[in-house]
Amino acid sequence: MAKDLLIGSHVGMNGPDYYLGSVKEAISYGASTFMFYTGAPQNSYRKPLNELRIEEGRSLLRENGFDESKIVVHAPYIINAANASRPDLLELSIKTIINELQRTAAFGASILVLHPGNHLGAGPEKAIEVLAESLDQVLANDGTNVRIAIETMAGKGSEIGTCFEQVRDIIEKCHHKDRLGVCLDTCHVSDAGYDINDADALLNEFDQVIGLDRLLVVHVNDSKNQRGAHKDRHENLGYGEIGFDALCHIANHPRLKDIPKILETPYINEKAPYSDEIRMLRDESFVENWKDKYLA
Ligand code: FE
Ligand code: FE
Ligand code: ZN
Repeated sequence: MAKDLLIGSHVGMNGPDYYLGSVKEAISYGASTFMFYTGAPQNSYRKPLNELRIEEGRSLLRENGFDESKIVVHAPYIINAANASRPDLLELSIKTIINELQRTAAFGASILVLHPGNHLGAGPEKAIEVLAESLDQVLANDGTNVRIAIETMAGKGSEIGTCFEQVRDIIEKCHHKDRLGVCLDTCHVSDAGYDINDADALLNEFDQVIGLDRLLVVHVNDSKNQRGAHKDRHENLGYGEIGFDALCHIANHPRLKDIPKILETPYINEKAPYSDEIRMLRDESFVENWKDKYLA
């Protein structure tokens, strides 16, 4: 490996190889870590663990020098543990998070990224309280040591967790703070209004409000939209409104050295862009028109 940058992308987990295939995919990109969903991102249907070739995947990742403690699982999107207007749905979200934590542990991973959810008109303050209560229920009953990384959100619709203060409040209100951390998504925080160009100022603000020791994952994505747009549309590195230099500076920031950096940029012509994006971040140099070969 050219440099010990802790960088990877989200990878698939499909049959027939399942987790073994996820690890192979990460290796094919030249990644040193990765993120995956333990099933479809859009629903909570989950295949039994014994069909997912977990042990084969784990052996392969160890052989290839991956640090298992830095591998990231993302919870499905449908979860909304922040709205109490439908107790049945809230209960389902809580059960789904518990199940995802247990599945994460079964893969040998120890970080689960979770979207904080939507207030759906109840207002962020109320939603933060509901979410903290939900997380208390989850963390008292899952029986694992997996940590939940609450993702910073773009502010689309009625999302909560759109500023560092809201994320801090969620953590503060929870009784199991030791198991809560944060996933900072560069596209989302830019869309939420933060300036990504000054990485030091951004990290200082994060540190003052939440504490950098809470930062468990960074999602490195360019954004199709301008700062403050609240749209949440990811773009390939250097092709969006954030730009390569700012993203590269964050990915290589010494204060983030031990934190997994994960790309969630879009496929181009149904091809994964990650080996090129990872290489450019490692080299700290942008390749002009790098996307052209995917478009040919
Ligand atoms: Fe996410
Ligand atoms: Fe993200
Ligand atoms: Zn996003």
